[in-house]
Amino acid sequence: MSNKLQWISDELDALEQQGLRNPIRTIGSACGAWMIVDGKRVLNFCANNYLGLANDPRLKAAAQHAIDAWGVGPAAVRSIAGTLELHREFERRIAAFKGVEDALYVQSGFCANQAAIPPIVGKDDVIFTDRLNHASIIDGCRLSSAKILIYEHCDVADAERVIQENSGSYRRALLVTDGVFSMDGDLAPLDKLYAVCERHGVITMVDDAHGEGVVGRGGRGIVDHFGLHGKFDLEIGTLSKAFGVVGGVIAGKKIVVDWIRQRARPFLFSSAVTPADTAACLAAVNLLEQSTELVDQLWENTRYFKAEIGRIGFNIGASVTPITPLMLGDATRAQQFSRALFDNGVFAMAIGFPTVAKGKARIRVMISAAHTRADLDRGLEIFAQVGRELCVIK
Ligand SMILES: *Cc1c(COP(=O)(O)O)cnc(C)c1O
Repeated sequence: MSNKLQWISDELDALEQQGLRNPIRTIGSACGAWMIVDGKRVLNFCANNYLGLANDPRLKAAAQHAIDAWGVGPAAVRSIAGTLELHREFERRIAAFKGVEDALYVQSGFCANQAAIPPIVGKDDVIFTDRLNHASIIDGCRLSSAKILIYEHCDVADAERVIQENSGSYRRALLVTDGVFSMDGDLAPLDKLYAVCERHGVITMVDDAHGEGVVGRGGRGIVDHFGLHGKFDLEIGTLSKAFGVVGGVIAGKKIVVDWIRQRARPFLFSSAVTPADTAACLAAVNLLEQSTELVDQLWENTRYFKAEIGRIGFNIGASVTPITPLMLGDATRAQQFSRALFDNGVFAMAIGFPTVAKGKARIRVMISAAHTRADLDRGLEIFAQVGRELCVIK
């Protein structure tokens, strides 16, 4: 008998030994500040539930109502018979919220990058991409068959150098960057990148997955944060983080969105988002337009937690957002740290290669508006205790 799958077991063993085998935990309750994880009630510092909307009664009511009115699934792709009035309404509302001309709602943020990039650039073209861009951007770039050229992380001078040296050799050029970098919590220098792209006629695209509902006025995102309305050609968003639901959005100039609507393969060949999800997203936009209360709470919690965790002595890298990495370096140590936190009732995951570079392992702590001051204090106490036990801090 041939042992054609033996290599998989070898690979898995190797991951185990390097502390890189991801122990995937199972959640036994709705997402909130506290959750049941692998049967144990713990304080949650893992979710992208920035505004606590994942279990919000107003979103749940909207979803339930939509199921009664529209059923559970559209049973069609958007371009054939799956475009509901609900989808169109959500697209109009999210476009207005973000201050863009048009928006297209797709199944996820991951899908949005697969959908948006290949219609814009192809084999005769070039993409300039930040070294730390999200995996879904990288895969979208690869799907396009364009030449991919990496510039150093958030390094505007390096981006301009790569653009200058190369754009003459290609038909079209696209620059793409995360807005808020998901593992470090730092911001792309969007205004400066835009200026460089303008000088060289490069199409601009930003992925705002961790910026939407978080940065900008009332959570209007990274473009709003930099006051660049109407300038970026393409903005990718997700409804599965701060908005607490699921789905992705491709927003920007009308002509660009019109073109993507004709060509995007996840839009043309994969079924539409369900009525319940769409209605919940719509309810989330309503909430954010009515009040900045949740976004304000998120930032109040973030400022408090970051000041305290820094005072305790942790290195949180370059973060300026609710994403708070506790930099540990070694992957095995990060996993050990995460296990010790869990034993003490805190859920915060270790992040290692390939999600971040080798030797840059960390615990990624996610702050939410759903945390009370008491939750944050309890968390800080346990981070400090485990940090001392594992000699990360004094
Ligand atoms: C999380 C994330 C995505 C994926 O969004 P989903 O809606 O979960 O598919 C895309 N881009 C970036 C930058 C992200 O952080």
